[in-house]
Amino acid sequence: MTKRKKALDPAVRVEELRELIRRHEHAYYVLDEPEVSDAEYDALFLELRRIEDERPDLLMTDSPTQRVSGEASDQFAKVRHRSPMLSLQNAFDEAEIRGFDKRVHAAVGDKVVYCAELKIDGLAISLTYAKGRLQRAATRGDGTTGEDVTANVRTIRSVPLSVTPAKGLPDLFEVRGEVYFPIAGFEKLNREMEAASKPRFVNPRNTAAGSVRQIDPNVTASRDLQTFMYTLDPAGPARSQWDVLNTLASMGFRVNKNRRRLDSIDAVIEYHAEWQRRRGELEYEIDGMVVKVDGFPQQLELGFVARSPRWAIAFKYAPEEAETEVEEIACYVGRTGVLTPVAHVKPVVVGGVTIRNVTMHNEAQVNEKGVYVGARVIIHRAGDVIPEIVSVKDPKPGWKMPAKCPVCGGEVVREEPYIAHRCINPFCGAQRLERVRHFAAVMDIEGLGYATLTQVIDRGVVEDPSDLYRLSKDQVKELDGFADKSAQNLVDRIAASSRPELGRFLYALGIPQVGQATAQLLAADFGSIERLRDASEDNLRRVDGVGPSMAHEVHAYFAGRGTELVKKLLAAGVAPQAAEAIGDGPLTGKTFVFTGTLETMSRPDAEALVRKLGGKAAGSVSAKTDYVVAGLGAGTKLEKAQKLKVAVLDEDQFKALLPK
Ligand code: NAD
Repeated sequence: MTKRKKALDPAVRVEELRELIRRHEHAYYVLDEPEVSDAEYDALFLELRRIEDERPDLLMTDSPTQRVSGEASDQFAKVRHRSPMLSLQNAFDEAEIRGFDKRVHAAVGDKVVYCAELKIDGLAISLTYAKGRLQRAATRGDGTTGEDVTANVRTIRSVPLSVTPAKGLPDLFEVRGEVYFPIAGFEKLNREMEAASKPRFVNPRNTAAGSVRQIDPNVTASRDLQTFMYTLDPAGPARSQWDVLNTLASMGFRVNKNRRRLDSIDAVIEYHAEWQRRRGELEYEIDGMVVKVDGFPQQLELGFVARSPRWAIAFKYAPEEAETEVEEIACYVGRTGVLTPVAHVKPVVVGGVTIRNVTMHNEAQVNEKGVYVGARVIIHRAGDVIPEIVSVKDPKPGWKMPAKCPVCGGEVVREEPYIAHRCINPFCGAQRLERVRHFAAVMDIEGLGYATLTQVIDRGVVEDPSDLYRLSKDQVKELDGFADKSAQNLVDRIAASSRPELGRFLYALGIPQVGQATAQLLAADFGSIERLRDASEDNLRRVDGVGPSMAHEVHAYFAGRGTELVKKLLAAGVAPQAAEAIGDGPLTGKTFVFTGTLETMSRPDAEALVRKLGGKAAGSVSAKTDYVVAGLGAGTKLEKAQKLKVAVLDEDQFKALLPK
């Protein structure tokens, strides 16, 4: 109650916000260990700025909005910057960037050219050169005083230790830019941390900052940091930001080539959108675009405010992380009966997309993260990546899968050694729908989506995939979204799928553990559905690439409901096209594995040929393999063959084995 009252009093809230922001800035800039997401920090900062805008009487010179964030740690010698290293004002949407453009035009008139650069998510660094030699490297610190990190920065390969200064530069000049951690290097580092059972690093930005601010330069050297430079002070011959970038590049500094000079804010907005789409192509993280008025005379006219220049702005991208609340944890039932927990969250925009549901894998994962109904969670989503919960505010384990299936009320069990929970009722409606849907998708029957399948299943016309082949045009015509012609089309498409290749048919059945590749292996080995159905567990186990647990599942499937389904499918006219039966021939008893590209025949043709001649074509190399046939670009299978001392043939040698 008192808390609520407090929050309503702006004077108190301002103090609360300042204290919180200072604490987060310390964790972020000094300790390199943020306690909250950037989005959360930005929200606090924005709230403070809004209150201060409305209530100028509450504004103070030491407010975080009035000064550059950060501070220099005592671990390093302090460096006073010759001119302050500033922060940037932010624009979070189109309206804000247009507002910036208006202010610029109001101050300097009509003709404005912008220099647009990617905003690298790293840490700002200043390099001082004296007579062309790197004299000192410093962090931004609080903007006035930074940390001397010369020994560390000297280990970064793209930082030139000596340069030939461009004409017109004085003996002492400064270059500023960004140090960052390339994504691939960051992921590699985290894999190494995991292998050594050490905690993973949170993100490339803070890891880059931590790596530059190491006591031991050897640690920095081991981290593969990179740089992009963008400021030259004094600017020597340059008359614009564009000139600066070209001058820096000509002196041997690393300068980002993704930059453009643009003569309208519309063009800036378009370029910004282009990189929002393409940011996944970059080997580093960006959090927006920095838009700078290009010409120095105009920059001079615009000048500075407390913490940032008036002639530049960071045009940010929608944050890829956001905080929200879990409203419910529901469970979805898949075709094999596996229950997947899904957190329904209060809708929140992450990476430009509204997120309502976040899938988790299983009960164990929910509890490892400590997710529960009512939990405040941080959601991450980058580019096309599926959203995930990265952290929980006040994690609490203890969430339990329901004991009964949420769809059919059937019993839910967890069978060792599986992690997943399953509804074991074979008549469960959700499983039925998913099974028929899987079958239709694998058989490539266009136009049989969830909407149509739900209707035929609800009406009881379809219980399993075999019923699809009995659907009449009249039955389909009655469904929502169908007319005479479209109904006929669907019936025709279903009929057209009735002679599938055996491997595809096996995959479509949805046998537990049998994916596309295994289905092909089984088809190649057994050659017909009847032989596979009647195979013993031992026989199944003999197939290369089929382990004991898979052999058990396949056998159990055909001993149970699988037999009935196959019988019904065959009776409905489905005729799987048997792979060439393995008979006796010149290659009987020999197992071949093909790898790489063959020049005179396709791989499936070569495999079919082997089978026709009595041999076996397997997908992976093992001690049971007799020959590996290596075509162009052969990779790991060839290496494995060499390791296992399996005979390797080239295409000509393989052809020499075939009867003339
Ligand atoms: P900023 O990062 O938004 O912008 C200023 C910086 O942009 C410059 O110092 C420079 O280093 C960098 N930059 C990158 N590319 C550039 C280019 N081409 N030209 C010019 N500058 C370029 O501002 P800031 O004050 O450094 O930090 C604010 C950021 O830090 C926000 O994203 C905020 O979310 C984050 N932050 C997070 C926490 C937390 O607790 N999670 C705390 C503090 C700050």
